[in-house]
Amino acid sequence: MALTNLQVRDLETVLHPYTNQATIRDTGTLVLERAKGIHVYDVDGKPYIEGMAGLWCTSLGYGNEELADAAYAQMKKLSFTHLFGGKSHDPAIELAERLKEKAPVPISKVFFVCSGSEANDSQIKMIWYMNNAMGRPQKKKIVSRIKGYHGVTIASASLTGLPANHTDFDLPISGILHTSCPHHYRFGLEGESEEDFATRCAQDLEDLILREGPDTVAAFIAEPVMGAGGVIVPPKGYFEKMMAVCQRYDVFMIADEVICAFGRLGEWFGSSALGYKPNSISIAKALTSAYMPVGAILIPEEMYQATIVESKKVGTFGHGFTYSGHPVGAAVALKTLEIYDREKIIEKAAAKSPQFQAHLKALGDHPLVGEARGLGMMGALEMVADKRTKKAFEPKAGIGAKAVAIAQEEGVILRNLGDALALCPPLIISPEEIDDLFDRVARTLDRVLDHAK
Ligand code: PLP
Repeated sequence: MALTNLQVRDLETVLHPYTNQATIRDTGTLVLERAKGIHVYDVDGKPYIEGMAGLWCTSLGYGNEELADAAYAQMKKLSFTHLFGGKSHDPAIELAERLKEKAPVPISKVFFVCSGSEANDSQIKMIWYMNNAMGRPQKKKIVSRIKGYHGVTIASASLTGLPANHTDFDLPISGILHTSCPHHYRFGLEGESEEDFATRCAQDLEDLILREGPDTVAAFIAEPVMGAGGVIVPPKGYFEKMMAVCQRYDVFMIADEVICAFGRLGEWFGSSALGYKPNSISIAKALTSAYMPVGAILIPEEMYQATIVESKKVGTFGHGFTYSGHPVGAAVALKTLEIYDREKIIEKAAAKSPQFQAHLKALGDHPLVGEARGLGMMGALEMVADKRTKKAFEPKAGIGAKAVAIAQEEGVILRNLGDALALCPPLIISPEEIDDLFDRVARTLDRVLDHAK
């Protein structure tokens, strides 16, 4: 199909993130123009269900007037002030208060950032800083997980455990280690129960810590449910066992809640849904329902105390972004949290989850689907060449990308994580719209099957 004028101009000028730069020259981009509710519309006016809530973030959907008004009002009142050197403003203070109230574990302070990558980058710096302040400069290594996703800055991409984020970027940096991926379908042994698999994952972590030397291992970071790694729900008892190992070796625990916080798993924080009790937490995305780029790390008292120790030594706490706590972002985040509370968005997401998960599990019977997995209002359908042996398709076949293209024709935007099709719609999706979404996904799978034959 010939590319439109906009598509050609796009390809001439924009380097698209996370895109196959070779194939996009033929396929062109999908140029979107407007959106309302759970639908986005392309420049020709065709509607699509946003089956991925953008990038796991637009929980309240599109065109929310209250959020737009909150941004406009704050822009007129105080469009910018920073938080450096003792400056502050009401929206940042109130937002920090709200987040401390909501946090599932004791939190001392909130440090604002603009993205998930900045949040996790800041976590690493804070861990190093804290351990220096505590007089244990050798305790610095951070353990992440194979297939974990934590961002793309040099340090957060190092935490990420996916080959595309490392290969030829000369990553990971030293001192970042990866332990096993808790995906029972792919890595569980023949006949191994979920519980036994969880025990083995915890044993892998313990072995790694002992191999490296417990005095050198500072922290463990995990998403409650892995997102970009393929929507991987850990096996039963996983976090309980992982936490026991961390506690045994005084390893600080970080929850990367960039996707899972704010109702995605039916609770305010995904950690609560999985029995994970971290020491600090990273958030972003649904904090503003993606109306503004805002993130934060929620840190415990001992980490805050380290900033006082170091300030006395160095003269300042030398970390912060121009837009840390941007007043417009903070005002939008506050309004988002108010809507979550007032409209009972989290409770309603929990109530809709069984319908969502039932649809997902039903598609597990499709001949193309090796595993249908998910929790709350997120899930994935892993397409395989052989259901019985779990044999994957040849990467060259590009089945995942093909499925996304067909889904687009069917009027639904999905994302392929390899050959797993991810689903993560706005939390405001109605029960009827959930049925509609899955009808389109089912049609997509049938057509992919025809194509794969
Ligand atoms: N952490 C998790 C769990 C994520 O899913 C993402 C992005 O998808 C990030 C961190 C990175 O966030 P950002 O893209 O805002 O830098």
